[in-house]
Amino acid sequence: MALKRIIDGAYLLALGNANCILLDDGTELTLVDAGFLNKADVVWKAVEELGRKRTDIRHLVFTHGHPDHIGSAAAILRETDATTYMHALDAPFAESGGPFRPMTPSPQFLLGLAYRFVWRPNKMMEPFKIDRHMADGDTLPVAGGLNVIGTPGHCAGQVAFLWKGRQLLIAGDVGTNILGIGDPVGFEDEAEGRRSQRKIGGLQFEAAAFGHGSLIHSGASDRVRRTWGSR
Ligand SMILES: [Zn+2]
Ligand SMILES: [Zn+2]
Repeated sequence: MALKRIIDGAYLLALGNANCILLDDGTELTLVDAGFLNKADVVWKAVEELGRKRTDIRHLVFTHGHPDHIGSAAAILRETDATTYMHALDAPFAESGGPFRPMTPSPQFLLGLAYRFVWRPNKMMEPFKIDRHMADGDTLPVAGGLNVIGTPGHCAGQVAFLWKGRQLLIAGDVGTNILGIGDPVGFEDEAEGRRSQRKIGGLQFEAAAFGHGSLIHSGASDRVRRTWGSR
């Protein structure tokens, strides 16, 4: 199975070592993030598992514009005609294909080490167009409403999403859940990234999906708050 159920209508897909989320509102499909390069086949397999068509993916929404979240976007768009959504500060990455803004590694040792192995800001991706910009506080007209929470720091255009009231947080790279809840591999602005982590810690949600690492099916906001605090 390509799909891992999170809650009713929400599934996690691993596109390489980066997760994306498929939301099914009963009519349209919405894909949040597009993984590493050459992973579109995983998405097609997932769509097939749901008994749907590729063109049922009507929306492609991005937590941010890093290469491990946009890598297969151009390939997915060639077969879907989906509308694309990204924060204005990251949209130029998608539309140019790179290079990407510099980060500094996380002070958490293993994550900082991972940064040195995986972060290649000058590796170019296939560019694609962003149709709509989004910002903190917006509700996107997709999957019955997707609430945008601005969480800059890892990346200036990083956002998280709340779905179905407060049932699911889609965190992107505000943090990871690789070795328990922790940092992203790096930060453009660490102080801002910490403020964003505390902002997420102040929210209520049941399940959480991160851009990298394991799902949390229940009690997720309590676990996040214990790790990051709140504001
Ligand atoms: Zn990232
Ligand atoms: Zn990432």
